[in-house]
Amino acid sequence: MTSTDSPDCLFCKIVAGDIPADVVASSDTAIAFRDIAPKAPVHVLVVPKEHYPDVSAFAATDTEGLAGVIGLADGVASELADGQYRLIFNTGPKAGQSVFHVHAHLLAGGELPGFA
Ligand code: 5GP
Ligand code: ZN
Repeated sequence: MTSTDSPDCLFCKIVAGDIPADVVASSDTAIAFRDIAPKAPVHVLVVPKEHYPDVSAFAATDTEGLAGVIGLADGVASELADGQYRLIFNTGPKAGQSVFHVHAHLLAGGELPGFA
């Protein structure tokens, strides 16, 4: 556990290896693992190892870390799909955020549905 871990946070526990996950890639500062309920042929969550509640707090504090998350997602999209992808940061409950450790949803593979 590092000083930035949040003890009750699901994704901190995945980062620490205390809860198993299908990890597809990692870097010094971020890991990527498959979403437990995939919404696309490739649906991977990319999270910084440090705990931030959402992308707003993350971007305000660690732009390098944010670039690292995006870079890791980009690499995974090339490894597991054809390099074309959608990245979504749900931010706040009204936007659908349910886990309050910032995560990028990487959606790829096949044709993704358009937004309404
Ligand atoms: P949010 O709703 O916060 O944007 O996204 C949270 C995501 O975490 C959801 O897509 C959900 O399926 C995924 N999720 C929830 N619990 C687990 C888990 O224990 N393991 C993994 N791999 N994904 C999870
Ligand atoms: Zn956390």
